[in-house]
Amino acid sequence: MILHVDMDAFFASVEQLDNPQLRGRCVVVGKNSCRGVVAAASYEARSFGVRSAMALSKALSLCPDAVVVAPRMERYRRVSGRVMEILSMFSPLVEQVSIDEAYLDVSGCRHLHGSPETIAGKIKKRVAGDIGITCSVGVAPLKFLAKIASGMNKPDGLTVILPGDVQAFIENLPIEKVPGVGKVTQKQLALLGVETLGDLARVPEELVVKKLGRQGMRLRLMAMGQDRSEVSPGGLPKSVSSETTLPRDTADIGLLKRYMLGHSEDISRQLHKAGARARVVSLKVKYSNFKEISRQVTLENSVQSANAIYREAVRLLRKAPLKHSVRLIGLGVSRLVFVAPGIQLDLFAQEADRDSRWEKIERFVAKIEEKYGKNVIKKGTLSE
Ligand SMILES: [Mg+2]
Repeated sequence: MILHVDMDAFFASVEQLDNPQLRGRCVVVGKNSCRGVVAAASYEARSFGVRSAMALSKALSLCPDAVVVAPRMERYRRVSGRVMEILSMFSPLVEQVSIDEAYLDVSGCRHLHGSPETIAGKIKKRVAGDIGITCSVGVAPLKFLAKIASGMNKPDGLTVILPGDVQAFIENLPIEKVPGVGKVTQKQLALLGVETLGDLARVPEELVVKKLGRQGMRLRLMAMGQDRSEVSPGGLPKSVSSETTLPRDTADIGLLKRYMLGHSEDISRQLHKAGARARVVSLKVKYSNFKEISRQVTLENSVQSANAIYREAVRLLRKAPLKHSVRLIGLGVSRLVFVAPGIQLDLFAQEADRDSRWEKIERFVAKIEEKYGKNVIKKGTLSE
């Protein structure tokens, strides 16, 4: 059985958590510029029709009393890391898919933590108790069904699709509720008489493939109750390390520090590549007599830069006895916190990009107007 955990209105909930004055109010997280977009909206704001990715101006026209809060990504990342830590207590198989979403395979965890539904309840309780915000959990035998289930009773929902109910669920599931089915696909399928996912299983395979290609194939498999994707923590490493056996044993701390600087840079590069930050830094030292020691520190704030890792490494090295000379020195980081490229992060990047482009255009227009007078550029041509 698979759990899909989805935080409720994540950024907005964190803002309401940190600022009690925002609780119960319409909160919109987004950069407050004339071309800003909604990164997240509290449930109070959603009841006015405000949605993620909507233009901020439109959100404010729907809900004029909304409080607009600038996003604090560093804070959200930290809360996300805490959520993922809680999830990892219940299963070793956690796949984080964005800053506020993850799948867990809990098939092998019944002994330790109880039934999948019990585990889902425990996770919700833990997240609410330890962090102070809510999540919605979907439980199902297949990944795509778990995802649909988590969205069914938001916020603070817990929805279970039992193996025996899968067939009937698929039979009645409106096709547009299937992840990845947009308006265009929905229309194409309607032409084939497909309204529910179950309908799709009865359309000849060749026809589905002809109309929708690979996506059609994938959807048809889903319709038949098959989802080959597994919960794979793979791709996201649990730890990153780097070590060197020295060309000659040494007790020269200056030399050891130089090696550690190299390791710090190496590790930092790998963290960047994986989009991760680390909470634990550890040092491993093997002496000339082959005795090995390790020292580690758990940090309040996660680190990613070579400088920050190196700083911790030097502190750890000072605690390591250097009575014997050293033959191997290694550095590692663990308790990684991932920031998967979710839609919210992309939105900020696009927005910043658009803002700077727009500023350039405005400067350009001002220059032209200064030289040739106002209204020489026809409105409407500017956007192109
Ligand atoms: Mg969410």
